Amino acid sequence: MSRILIIEDEEAIADLERDYLELSDFEVKIENTGDKGLQTALAEDFDLIILDLMLPGMDGFEVCKRIRETKNLPILMVSAKKDDIDKIRGLGLGADDYMTKPFSPSELVARVKAHMARYDRLVGSAQKNNDMVEIRGIKIDKTARRVWINGEERNFTTKEFDLLTFLAENPNHVFTKEELFREIWDMDSIGDIATVTVHIKKIREKIEFDTSNPQYIETIWGVGYRFKV
Ligand code: CA
Repeated sequence: MSRILIIEDEEAIADLERDYLELSDFEVKIENTGDKGLQTALAEDFDLIILDLMLPGMDGFEVCKRIRETKNLPILMVSAKKDDIDKIRGLGLGADDYMTKPFSPSELVARVKAHMARYDRLVGSAQKNNDMVEIRGIKIDKTARRVWINGEERNFTTKEFDLLTFLAENPNHVFTKEELFREIWDMDSIGDIATVTVHIKKIREKIEFDTSNPQYIETIWGVGYRFKV
């Protein structure tokens, strides 16, 4: 079910928006101040945000800007004043659409649906074009250099990413530490095969449920490592 966050200080408006969106099978959460709204927007996952411009505390301009710094999702800004809408358009804060109050709830629902469909197309096509490696719960986007473990994104250093990707792309093949070092680190690198051990340990801490009983990268004693399929 798609989730929508409404950041709106006028309770009657927020409730009306929620009622109509729930009728269209959206799950809705309401926050009444800019500060709380921003906090919730950053802490949870939503598919779209409806953001009022005039809010107590942090206003909609600032909330929009701050959400945009980290999140990529449609933001629909609403304001009672037409002039404000023109102003926010000019500021280029990254809102996807603007509506002047009062608006009909059915128009709001129609716009919400249109923006979600557009984002689905964008995100869907981006993933299709990217070079992906997927093994069990691990998903590696080679193009964007991003990794998800059971749906949750984790951060990897450049070499950790290269090493994990190399092993995952060559599953069921035992590589010695020397081979891995040659493959991932260039000839001039300072370091030795102990670097490989250190990196394998770091990767395991990020991908394994239990590092003492690894389910992905196995140690083949006396030989090296193997990525299990
Ligand atoms: Ca308001």
